[in-house]
Order: sequence, then C-alpha cells, then structure tokens
Amino acid sequence: MRDQLSGLVFSTEKGQLCPGCKEAVDQCICDQLADQQRLENLDGVIRIRRETSGRKGKGVTTISGVPLADKALKELAKKLKQQCGTGGSLKDGIIEIQGDHREKLKQLLEKQGYRVKLAGG
Ligand SMILES: [Zn+2]
Repeated sequence: MRDQLSGLVFSTEKGQLCPGCKEAVDQCICDQLADQQRLENLDGVIRIRRETSGRKGKGVTTISGVPLADKALKELAKKLKQQCGTGGSLKDGIIEIQGDHREKLKQLLEKQGYRVKLAGG
C-alpha cells in the first residue's frame, strides 16, 4: 500500500472503501449517518442564541436543534436569511444568521409550528 491509499480499505467486491462507514467510497454515507445522529439527539426544541464573541458588530444569531434533515435544513436556512434580509451560513446542523434577529426568527419559526426557546444572552 502506498501512502495515498492509507486510510482506505480495499475490497475486491466494492473497490475502495470509506474508512468511516465501510461503504464504497462513491457510496459513502458518512454525512447521512452524522445527520441521523444529530437528529436522534434533538429534544424537539429549537434554540436561538446570539453570539458576539470574536465577531464584529452585532454578532450573529444561531439557531440550533432544528428537527430537520440536512436538505430541508438548508432550505430553511435560505428562507430565514431572505426573511431577515441578511447573510448567514449552515454548519454542523446549526444555522447562523448575521446580526441580531432573535425575536424575528422566533416568530418565524413559531409560525411554522416549532417550539422555540431563546437561550443565552
Ligand atoms: Zn463514509
């Protein structure tokens, strides 16, 4: 085995295997598994928090605990960004919206039927 193959297991049946999920590399389900695990650990309450540490200006509003799979979560993030008229991102299941939009986001999410808690400062 050369260095470039380290971490990859070879199976004559499937070809190169992903070291994470042991599926063929082109059928890797690691993202899916991580997403599943995230969903299993949720308690059904969305938490909205403002974070300013290490950030400029008003900081960001983070939304965690949204009980949606990755794809739907991406769509929700996009919609919320539009509704707040600002930018943002989605990372590890947490939506980040630029600026302080806690009250507005709480209202928007509650309107969609979610249980929402404002957490932290
Ligand atoms: Zn994998």
